[in-house]
Amino acid sequence: MATYPEYPPDQSDEEQKYLLTSLKDWSIAHGLAVRPTTTYVSAEIDPSGALATTAPVTLFPSLFPRVCFEQAKSVAQDYNELYSAIASDEEWLKQTVEELVDIDDFIAQLWKVHLAVKQQGYVQPLNLGLFRSDYMVHTDPANAQSRPCVKQVEFNTIASSFGGLSTQVSALHKYLFTVGAYPEAPLSVISDAALPESTSVPGLAMGMAKAHEAYGPSKDGLATCVLFLVQDPERNVFDQRHVEYVLNKNYGVKTFRLPFGKVLNDTKLDADRKLVYSPPHAPSKQFEVTLVYFRAGYSPAEYQNQRDWDGRLQIERSAAIKCPSILTQLAGTKKVQQVLATPHSPHLKRFLPDEARAAELLKTFAPIYPMDKSEAGEEARKLAQDPETAVRYVLKPQREGGGNNVYRKAIPRFLKDTPETHWPAHILMEMIEPPAQSNVIFRNGELQKGGVICELGIYGACLWRDEDGKGKREILENFEAGYLLRTKGCGSEEGGVAAGFGSVDSACLI
Ligand code: ADP
Ligand code: MG
Ligand code: MG
Repeated sequence: MATYPEYPPDQSDEEQKYLLTSLKDWSIAHGLAVRPTTTYVSAEIDPSGALATTAPVTLFPSLFPRVCFEQAKSVAQDYNELYSAIASDEEWLKQTVEELVDIDDFIAQLWKVHLAVKQQGYVQPLNLGLFRSDYMVHTDPANAQSRPCVKQVEFNTIASSFGGLSTQVSALHKYLFTVGAYPEAPLSVISDAALPESTSVPGLAMGMAKAHEAYGPSKDGLATCVLFLVQDPERNVFDQRHVEYVLNKNYGVKTFRLPFGKVLNDTKLDADRKLVYSPPHAPSKQFEVTLVYFRAGYSPAEYQNQRDWDGRLQIERSAAIKCPSILTQLAGTKKVQQVLATPHSPHLKRFLPDEARAAELLKTFAPIYPMDKSEAGEEARKLAQDPETAVRYVLKPQREGGGNNVYRKAIPRFLKDTPETHWPAHILMEMIEPPAQSNVIFRNGELQKGGVICELGIYGACLWRDEDGKGKREILENFEAGYLLRTKGCGSEEGGVAAGFGSVDSACLI
């Protein structure tokens, strides 16, 4: 990747003021916003929760190699196909999950919910995946002149966030360019053609609309709706609202937001296991739920008691289409990614027999190892315990949402403090080292300038029908659904925007 040492440029006070005023006004006017943290705006100042602030964003679009951007987009449909195939292959997933159930209670509980529903029989063969495959740019350290490529950080099958804000931030950067908020020289690298628009809002909304349509009208003559299953409170609410509003406006789909802990309060199953929702503001009304879109339920902390698990079971048992089902959620565990990506793994071709397409996916895998007692696992244990080699790795448990990993030199200590029987609940992954660049992050009213690291997410939508629960399926929809760039200061190992580490960004292709 060519480097642009003068990117982004130093700006005069007046130039920066113009840029920031333009950015702040555009962000609020277009809902590139979040609810503030209570440390930023205290509950005393905003007791009714009426205030919003600009989402953490970069002032400039970060530089991203065009070949890498195209590479990541080109494999989106194959990743959709791969993960829908895994989610439909219960027997294969079972083997993988069984390695975790004794040592990971959360995974064990999810599996139990699946088994309970399986025993009664699933009544909905349709599945919706709204996925996000995350990548970083990799250059061969031994050959600085070699073409950069993307390596996959992880594949998300549940609650893939920022699809709402990513469309807005790509539009923001384009707007700032258009109104001359970016100095022309040395920023000639920014041009209209270099700034790809992110189509994640229409893409994700279309995925949901296709699922809603495939479910069809209520046979009982009820009005239908899509439920957004959400955390409460949710600071990142506008990200979700953007998709909801397009679903309402472009497809006439009614949507409701249901807090994760309220499933049993506000929904019930009828005799055919149709999921019926009565909104608390109009309890006499009944809506048949066509699709439950999870923006919650991926973290153990959200399941506070048995009632929360019963709520999850109720949804899984229901005839509503799930985005995702439990099996689809489990297909997105880091363990599955590791099983696919362990060097010389035979598993990829089971799900993607086409060799040419599998080879393209394989190019995006970074080496990942199990932490079990297999040959590869023993090798990984050695690497992870030795402080000299551990610095090249990240250790990940089967968790989502950021803040769960152990990085580099912290790994040996962590392993010393963790009973060896629990090591196999983790995977060991080589750190991807993207090229250095600089940017300015605007977060909570403050500017942070310095070295940054970018992570590209490509959204994918996939609607499929399970034919037999043994891997046979029919894919009804499969498309790429926009992109996200997240950028963090290079001092931070984690990149989560909502978790407080990063910012949303867009790509300036070079
Ligand atoms: P989560 O599901 O919690 O988002 P991730 O696997 O995405 O877990 O890890 C969280 C963050 O850690 C990523 O966004 C990225 O910034 C960093 N990270 C994870 N794996 C790697 C890796 N192999 N190389 C470099 N950074 C990584
Ligand atoms: Mg992640
Ligand atoms: Mg994740």
